[in-house]
Amino acid sequence: MTIPIQSSSAASQETRSTCCYCGVGCGVIIESQAGQITGVRGDPHHPANHGRLCSKGSTLHLTAAAHVQMQTRLLHPLFRKERGAALQPLDWGTALDTLATRLSATREEHGPDAIGIYVSGQLLTEDYYVFNKLAKGVLGTNNIDSNSRLCMSSAVAGYKSTLGADAPPACYEDIAHADTIVIAGSNLANAHPILMRRLEDVRNARPEQKLIVVDPRVSETAALADLHLQLLPGTDIALFNGLLHVLLWDGQVDTAFINEHTEGFAPLRERVRDCTPRETARITGLCQEDILCAAKWWGQSKSVLSLYCQGLNQSSSGTANNAALINLHLATGQIGRPGAGPLSLTGQPNAMGGREVGGMANLLSAHRDLASAQDRAEVAQFWGIPQVPARPGKTAVEMFEAAADGAIKLLWIVCTNPAHSMPNQNLVRAALQRAEYVVLQEAYANTATATYADLLLPAATWGEKEGTVTNSERRISRVRAAVLPVGQAKPDWQIAVDVAHRLGAAKLMPYTTPEQIWLEHRNSTRGRDLDITGMSWPMLDKAGPQQWPMPNGATSGRARLYTDGVFATPNGKAQFVDTAHQGVAEPRDARYPFSLNTGRLRDQWHGMSRTGNLGRLYGQTNEPQVLMHAQDMARLGIADGQLARLSTRRGEQILVANASATVAAMQVFAPMHWDINVLTLPTYCPKSKQPELKHSAVHIEPANLSWNLSALAWLPAHCALSVRHKLQELCKPLVYASCVPFGHEPDALGRLGLQLRLAHHEPAGAEVIDAIRTALGLSGTGLLQYQDRQRGQQRVLRIEQNHLLAFCLSGQFDDQEQLRSLLLSKQELQGNGRTLLLPGATPTQPRSPQICTCLNVSQAQIETVLPRISGTAAQRLAGLQGALGCGTQCGSCVPQLKLLIQTSPMAKH
Ligand code: SF4
Repeated sequence: MTIPIQSSSAASQETRSTCCYCGVGCGVIIESQAGQITGVRGDPHHPANHGRLCSKGSTLHLTAAAHVQMQTRLLHPLFRKERGAALQPLDWGTALDTLATRLSATREEHGPDAIGIYVSGQLLTEDYYVFNKLAKGVLGTNNIDSNSRLCMSSAVAGYKSTLGADAPPACYEDIAHADTIVIAGSNLANAHPILMRRLEDVRNARPEQKLIVVDPRVSETAALADLHLQLLPGTDIALFNGLLHVLLWDGQVDTAFINEHTEGFAPLRERVRDCTPRETARITGLCQEDILCAAKWWGQSKSVLSLYCQGLNQSSSGTANNAALINLHLATGQIGRPGAGPLSLTGQPNAMGGREVGGMANLLSAHRDLASAQDRAEVAQFWGIPQVPARPGKTAVEMFEAAADGAIKLLWIVCTNPAHSMPNQNLVRAALQRAEYVVLQEAYANTATATYADLLLPAATWGEKEGTVTNSERRISRVRAAVLPVGQAKPDWQIAVDVAHRLGAAKLMPYTTPEQIWLEHRNSTRGRDLDITGMSWPMLDKAGPQQWPMPNGATSGRARLYTDGVFATPNGKAQFVDTAHQGVAEPRDARYPFSLNTGRLRDQWHGMSRTGNLGRLYGQTNEPQVLMHAQDMARLGIADGQLARLSTRRGEQILVANASATVAAMQVFAPMHWDINVLTLPTYCPKSKQPELKHSAVHIEPANLSWNLSALAWLPAHCALSVRHKLQELCKPLVYASCVPFGHEPDALGRLGLQLRLAHHEPAGAEVIDAIRTALGLSGTGLLQYQDRQRGQQRVLRIEQNHLLAFCLSGQFDDQEQLRSLLLSKQELQGNGRTLLLPGATPTQPRSPQICTCLNVSQAQIETVLPRISGTAAQRLAGLQGALGCGTQCGSCVPQLKLLIQTSPMAKH
């Protein structure tokens, strides 16, 4: 079948491409008009999503709206004369010359390893390829690592140590074939929503399919499980070893498979001899019955598929966590068949592509290893250079530690935001300050890392770039440009090539198109486990996405690996790994008694440089938040919605505390999207070097900040996001500052909502408050004002034509939510609105989170309707969808709807 890449009419154009968020790798059709992206919808021909998109993917076009681009994108190169000075524009030629000169000078003065390049799983495969070649082949350093180190390196090491190659053996179709699905360390509903939709379809069609979820938290995914193993953080290996013990005891292992296709089972069998259900229950905190039940379902199922992600990977024992789960598959022969096998889920859209081209400190092109002299020699010959340096490169945490120590002088950061995403932020920010020269190549102007950059290079982004990405099931998809890059932005590969040319490496980097780069990458895979020599660029264009391997002569890619029981090890046998329970790197103690777990929200993506510009994506959670058990909050004297101070051995952070039944006592959960990495620790898995972002020991207390400010305003869309950035900068010195857009935008009057919440030990200065008010349109004439000096309260409102347009409350107050809903509702006010000036005149109502982002349906609306709907859970869901429409569009909120149905009683008639 030939799938049209682009179609156009006089008025509009449609371009097939891929979503730029998670590793599901959904196909999208981008609609554009006159050089502007106007819409996006799921690509019905793409095998990853068959036309569906989640709440993030379906709003991609809104992130590319002109008013968003003009206020948030980096439009031309910028530089600082000196640290702390204002950024100034410069032309591309000078910017590239400057960077090339600095790279040469650093290399000459301090050696090539004084340079560190930190790239991203957001890059396309072709970007990754040229940056890897630039570092290892031109600059002569292996100091190139990716933020995929924070995401997938334990999965890489887990696969290599057991199956022999970094190749996920299963595929998405296996979700439909599996009799039992084990989801471990993954909140699929939030992190990979379209796979969750696939799983929901299967569970509707085959209710007998069993779902086991392994997670310390009652996540949206865990809540839907047939069996939720709510284990203690860091006890995954103990659980997997315990399951193997029971499987052995019950005679449920596949001895023939073990004998024929594996080696190394004896020490593992010895290891798990003592992992009795009782001992496993003691370590994991689970009950023995649940452990026995999980083992029984695994052992008696014809096919078991495991899906796993950061809960296993982001751990100081990440590689062993992965290996312990893969051990179970090998011991039971649950691999290489439809519905069977381990399938790691990639967090980022192209973590896989980066691994394929060797874009990490310990890897080389086409799954070669830097540590192997033979692999280095092969790559050197392939590139036509004398040698690839043998010195190990610095991985992510090591790179920033080296910069903090002064060993790395020049950091070139590409398409990532380490001043937000790396653990132990205080050290990372010190490293960025100490580095002599920091280059940031970015699409967005205002990321946290931009503050530290000496040179900013504007990069093209989604909708503007050409190339390929590989998703979690080894499927390579084309990424296509629908419009030209905004401003002077350039594709990332182009910037790397331009710098290489200035370094005298034009012959090594002769590329003028991404296709030329991909063809070189393709050739490097010949004879390797990921051989793609049977694919071509026109094939990807005409026939659509393809799975690797697909060697020359093959007519299609391979859906599953190891179907013949031959693994990618030298003797073809898979290797059991003797995995021992290790626990977390930082156990809780009397000073730091809580266990902090981190994870994703449904509607936000990583540091929110893109999703954070849309008000509708804050409907579910609109402030930096920590979820706590209600009993813990009561014991600590923290009321729901109050600010709490979280501190670890590395730093502290103020977050809004919300009571939640989803976390166990003495455990708390904070979304990763806000600035929580001041708390997390950089300790990493010794094999994968992936840091333990998932767990840290934390102390919690009420923040006790006496001064507060809450302000909301409707602002013209063309300036609201600029105002937001200005306010964020202005309020940085305050202990707590949150400023986000709100509402579905822009509204009929072309406005965006902006919400600001501040808290501090003492009142902010009059200049700061004046500046805030001016920015929010609360200065000049036509205001309603009230000041209560005794209570230290100030209230300022702007009301026009009987509608509340903006308000700012400062001091002590408790009616902000009522004013907020009044402002959001755009309701006409009764009278002249003067009563709103009176503190307490409007009753306080808690904010009701938005559940359905597409149709803007709140939890309160759902809870009002639900008691009137009777029947089975499926009938009530259908009734709810019929009544309010929620969950009928992208479907991302269906897991939350099911949860609300579970907890909402039916009215008695
Ligand atoms: Fe994008 Fe959502 Fe698909 Fe992930 S699941 S690729 S975020 S549309």
